[in-house]
Amino acid sequence: MRPVPEYAVQRNRHEDAEAVYNDLPVLRSIFEMCDGCLEIASLSEHFLQYTILQLSHAYHTSYDSDTISITTTSPRHEQRNGVDPMHMILLGVGTAVPDADRDYTHMVWKAPDGAVLIDTGGSTYQRLLRAGVNPHDLRALILTHSHADHVNGLPGLLFSLKLSGYNRRLVIYGNAPTLAAAQRIIEAFDLGEHQPDVDWTPIEAGDEIVFDDAAYRIRTAPTVHTRPCLALRFDSEDGRALVYSADTEPCDAVRNLARGASVLIHEATTPEPFPGHTSPYQAGEVAAAAGVARLVLVHYSPRWTMSADRAIAETRAAGFIGEVEIGREFASYALPPVQ
Ligand SMILES: [Zn+2]
Ligand SMILES: [Zn+2]
Repeated sequence: MRPVPEYAVQRNRHEDAEAVYNDLPVLRSIFEMCDGCLEIASLSEHFLQYTILQLSHAYHTSYDSDTISITTTSPRHEQRNGVDPMHMILLGVGTAVPDADRDYTHMVWKAPDGAVLIDTGGSTYQRLLRAGVNPHDLRALILTHSHADHVNGLPGLLFSLKLSGYNRRLVIYGNAPTLAAAQRIIEAFDLGEHQPDVDWTPIEAGDEIVFDDAAYRIRTAPTVHTRPCLALRFDSEDGRALVYSADTEPCDAVRNLARGASVLIHEATTPEPFPGHTSPYQAGEVAAAAGVARLVLVHYSPRWTMSADRAIAETRAAGFIGEVEIGREFASYALPPVQ
């Protein structure tokens, strides 16, 4: 007989673990009973993966490999509690050399008017599903730059979108050399009719992306990297902002772009200063200088960068006093409530 997984529910305790394990409707009903927001701890890895996969279509589900727990928030719960419907979900948080639990850094901005994908590292279609984002809600893709860890998933994504019946035009933004590289990649895969219609839309650093029906706008800035690269700032109509540095070494353009942001998702790739990349200490300096409220480190690896504890300590040593954390795959970073 299969062992019954032990589990604990923070707000509610439920005894029927085997029923949970075997029965998706029961699993869903537990999440409903818990008001759509709970953490389950002490589960086996297998059960965690099972649970995340089963629930990923209905909930925002994030998995924390450090505490081995999942956190999920249902859309219903978000509405009741006024959680901002606009948020960034991390689809991957690793460096160009992935770890077992960190794919290439890429993410998706989820808003009521649709989703905007930022880069296509890894198996993006599947990661969108796991993040609770319907890939058919994609309205645009922004490619920050052409390095392989940021564009390698593009042909697979287009192929899967078309095969699954995606019938919108996908707008793909990027600087000219990035789009040229992406087009060469697509041509090499010879997708033919098995790709959706794409509007290739070149943008330059400093340009804005504005959708007529969206309650936000996207500003861009140049980064200092080994290839032309764009940092992004998502500004809500009421003045809140989330910024993503993309790949960069510390630079004025990103520091200025991040000025006063609620959330700064910044790369922290290398243990020491290194051309084209940022160390955790330097990310802390940027966050402190920009006066952001919350710093999230991505493009990070405990193996290639440094341990998580040390990375956090380095940002503190650099003078950052706001909230700071290592980005977690499938974690969601919302703009804070309007004061
Ligand atoms: Zn990269
Ligand atoms: Zn890069």
